[in-house]
Amino acid sequence: MDLYRDEILDHYKNPHNFGELSDPKVSVEEYNPLCGDRIVLQLRLPQPDGLTPLTRRVQEVRFHGEGCAISTAASSMLTDYIKGKSLEELKKLDGPKVLSILNLSDISPARLKCALLSFEALKNLLAEQI
Ligand code: ZN
Repeated sequence: MDLYRDEILDHYKNPHNFGELSDPKVSVEEYNPLCGDRIVLQLRLPQPDGLTPLTRRVQEVRFHGEGCAISTAASSMLTDYIKGKSLEELKKLDGPKVLSILNLSDISPARLKCALLSFEALKNLLAEQI
């Protein structure tokens, strides 16, 4: 498979959900020293009152930073997926599932960190701040 297929390049040139959220938000930064990718992922969630992980859904999501084509395209596609999902759904995500959402299941080990950087950010955000 050509890693730099059109879909990847389109998301890289015109990333979805790129930018910064105003408050209230939760925010996390993630760095990939292997490639130099750095992203900030931000989510807005409703207040937890009366909601459960099944009914508390992501209202808005943004990311920004400096990354290679793979990490930027992956962040663009993953943030598209995250929007509107419940915390329960997001907590069930794992690496293989994310790679299948990104259609990058056969990515080389060297680029795996690039592809999963925004997912690592999401995991840390869910574990530490929510
Ligand atoms: Zn990278």
